[in-house]
Amino acid sequence: MLLDIKDLHVAIKGKEIIHGLSLQIAEGEVHAIMGPNGTGKSTLAMAIAGKEGYDVTKGDIIYKGRSLLEILPEERAREGIFLGFQYPVEIPGVSLTNFMRTAINETREYKGLPPMPPAEFLKKMEEKKKLVEIHSKLANRSVNEGFSGGEKKKNEIFQMAMLEPSLAVLDETDSGLDIDALKIVANGVNMLKTPQNATIVITHYQRLLDYIIPDYVHVLFEGRIVKSGGKELAMKLEEKGYEWIRND
Ligand code: ADP
Ligand code: MG
Repeated sequence: MLLDIKDLHVAIKGKEIIHGLSLQIAEGEVHAIMGPNGTGKSTLAMAIAGKEGYDVTKGDIIYKGRSLLEILPEERAREGIFLGFQYPVEIPGVSLTNFMRTAINETREYKGLPPMPPAEFLKKMEEKKKLVEIHSKLANRSVNEGFSGGEKKKNEIFQMAMLEPSLAVLDETDSGLDIDALKIVANGVNMLKTPQNATIVITHYQRLLDYIIPDYVHVLFEGRIVKSGGKELAMKLEEKGYEWIRND
């Protein structure tokens, strides 16, 4: 089991938002978490990230056999957890190339490895740029500075491709995501799927799941998973909306 969330309770400023959520994710699986706005999807992502202010008041998150609660938020990335919203900031003066070099070498240092040889790094950059169809121009610009919504998404998926995480959590909070950006995210998730890694895609758009085929779909409602199923569950949501869950 890659990720084992056990009876998780999360509170923000003393108010409980997640009320006992359990979820198991094995290597090789793609899980979609869906649900109406304000139901706790991003709070779950933040708790996995270890973001300050999101307090785990009960339960545990076990990642690769170890409690995440004992791993500092900045170390979680080096342990192979990628959070899509982690680097949305604009970083003036730092090109994507330099940013990636630093990120990769920090992880290598954490694992006791020497920096990646420049030739190997450049080869990897080229390979992954092709994979996510990112233009060289974009890689030479400052990270996210003046990037369009679609370019930011491409950048996010490119970072994921470069870092090769064991667990990726993609929170599609941006309600302004157009169909092209959705496709970029979906293609990235599909192409980067391996038997060793897993992805959690958080979305309230059934539309995203026209492009990603998740192994499991979970519906989060008022801080609890109220339904789990296969991709047919997403289709049912598409057809009937969330009201059906509420009345079920
Ligand atoms: P979702 O991602 O499913 O739309 P969120 O996890 O963002 O939902 O929010 C769940 C609940 O937590 C909402 O009621 C929201 O108002 C509340 N909440 C989220 N972030 C904060 C915060 N920083 N301070 C107080 N309440 C928050
Ligand atoms: Mg959200």
